[in-house]
Amino acid sequence: MEVKRAEKVVIVGSGLGGISAAISLAQEGFQVQMYEKNDRIGGKLNFLTEKGYTFDLGPSILTLPHLFEDLFSRSGRKLSDYVSIRTLRPHWRNFFEDGTVIDLLPEPEAMALEAEKAGEDPAAVRGFLKYSGELYDLVDSGYFQQGLDDSRDFRKFYGLLQFPKFDLFRSMHGSVCRHLKSPYMRNIFDFFIKYVGSSALRAPAFMNCLPTIQFRYDLWYADGGMYNIARGLGRLMEELGIEVNLRSEVTTIGSSGDRVTHLELENGRKVEADIVVSNMEVIPAYRRLLNEDEPFMRKLRKFEPACSGLVLDLGLDRKYPQLAHHNFFFSGDQHDHFTSVFQKRVLPRDPTIYLVAASRTDPTVAPEGCDCLKILPHIPYIREDAPISRAEYMEFKELILDKLERMGLEDLRKSVVFEHVWTPEDILQNYYSNKGSIYGVVSDRFRNFAFKAPKRSTRYGNLYFVGGSVNPGGGMPMVVLSGRNAARMISEDHPV
Ligand SMILES: Cc1cc2nc3c(=O)[nH]c(=O)nc-3n(C[C@H](O)[C@H](O)[C@H](O)COP(=O)(O)OP(=O)(O)OC[C@H]3O[C@@H](n4cnc5c(N)ncnc54)[C@H](O)[C@@H]3O)c2cc1C
Repeated sequence: MEVKRAEKVVIVGSGLGGISAAISLAQEGFQVQMYEKNDRIGGKLNFLTEKGYTFDLGPSILTLPHLFEDLFSRSGRKLSDYVSIRTLRPHWRNFFEDGTVIDLLPEPEAMALEAEKAGEDPAAVRGFLKYSGELYDLVDSGYFQQGLDDSRDFRKFYGLLQFPKFDLFRSMHGSVCRHLKSPYMRNIFDFFIKYVGSSALRAPAFMNCLPTIQFRYDLWYADGGMYNIARGLGRLMEELGIEVNLRSEVTTIGSSGDRVTHLELENGRKVEADIVVSNMEVIPAYRRLLNEDEPFMRKLRKFEPACSGLVLDLGLDRKYPQLAHHNFFFSGDQHDHFTSVFQKRVLPRDPTIYLVAASRTDPTVAPEGCDCLKILPHIPYIREDAPISRAEYMEFKELILDKLERMGLEDLRKSVVFEHVWTPEDILQNYYSNKGSIYGVVSDRFRNFAFKAPKRSTRYGNLYFVGGSVNPGGGMPMVVLSGRNAARMISEDHPV
């Protein structure tokens, strides 16, 4: 923090990507101002409190907390002084239609027992996790840590000889099947793709690095609810002198030639800027704030949105003791689930459902003796050519409740004392994400080979992007990386 720089950076949006960029830039000596349309920071890291229940409206699984720790340690502080986090056991509980229940645990001996329960050779699971770890190390060394943005960066950093190590010619599912025989284990490890809202059938095999994020670095929860992470980061921003403007929607990023010059706010105010960082996703920002022409927008089509979700929060007047903190209720036909959501782009007939019962481990989030559930099936992003009506989403909600009641949550409907539902349209309105996407850009080997948009604008020299629509993509730790890597890029582009 010794260096003071002359440039003023303005950030559009206060999602975790924007926050990470703001903190990292302030640490590099830049003067930073943030403009957020909502009345609190955090973006999708959001919460709802009602009738004694507290729900995480967005993320509920924290992984790779060391990336968050970095933001604090670079200012000589400790994450633990700002937010209390802890690991969870099991990581996930997996329920199947035939009554089989399998837990995921990072301890090899415990996981071996679960593998046997699933009819899988524990050595095969160990072999798969070793393969996953090797992929993680490879992806982490360049793509994550160096902030590589395209195939040219990849060639330069990795060299052509390393390319085969990425398992380039298989899908994620193809490689899962090469290692694992049991249909239960295949379904579970395919569903790690949920971390980036994509399809295991379409994602490249190197996305099998995802289980390592959990098995090597553990799975974490923030006491009192995940929003406490945003509160902690908010405190750090305040201490670093970052100016945060809430209820300040940016309507235009002004430009002159190949430079951006200022922001215009909804209230008519103009904010001059030397550098702009957009945490609004790339496609909506170019379309709505910069008003780019169609030929330019067409080039961005490959950065198709990841899936959206139906976010269903239920406050119950009872507990379901069979639930762990994190639970998955698997589709009877996960192939059909993936194909429906990501190829046909229709509501799946039998989705795999993610269900969080934070009240299992945190007594502060529900009244005594009660559970609070967040239920999240992945569903297609909004299609303007074939919109899904609210009535159809509500019918889909009933299908979800039917499935959960059938798979053991008896009388679930009768136990509900509070209900809150968000459709993709609500997600779009709240965060302005592209077509209601919840994880930014999809990872698809045929569309973009899992590359997201680059962090530096290809059109304006002093415009940068952070968050789920740029590399390395969606999910809390990844957007934190995007912010850190964009800040490093900005510092290098603007030497003192
Ligand atoms: C239901 C759900 C569950 C999830 N589960 C997990 C999980 O368990 N674990 C995990 O790691 N990740 C999860 N994610 C993904 C994770 O939340 C996101 O990838 C991440 O939080 C997105 O951060 P971001 O930086 O891309 O910005 P966002 O969170 O999208 O924030 C962008 C911000 O910019 C603001 N903004 C946009 N346009 C403007 C404008 N014009 N003017 C002013 N402000 C503007 C928005 O209001 C918003 O605050 C989940 C997401 C959702 C929605």
